[in-house]
Amino acid sequence: MFKPEVDAEKCIGCGECVDICPTEVYELIDEKSVPVNADECIGCESCIEVCEQEAITVEEI
Ligand code: SF4
Ligand code: SF4
Repeated sequence: MFKPEVDAEKCIGCGECVDICPTEVYELIDEKSVPVNADECIGCESCIEVCEQEAITVEEI
């Protein structure tokens, strides 16, 4: 399993991670990305690559 996390202090709410995630892990809530479906993460790291703020980490657990 994987644990995607967003640093809300770095996130600017651009939505790029929401758009790119193949399993729809993220939703924008109050202009911040939130991994509401974290259990669906497959660890592809596309969200990490697309986030220019380096706000996302994905840990294997
Ligand atoms: S790509 Fe990064 S800055 Fe943009 S919404 Fe996602 S976490 Fe926030
Ligand atoms: S690592 Fe891949 S599957 Fe997991 S949240 Fe990021 S984009 Fe989605």
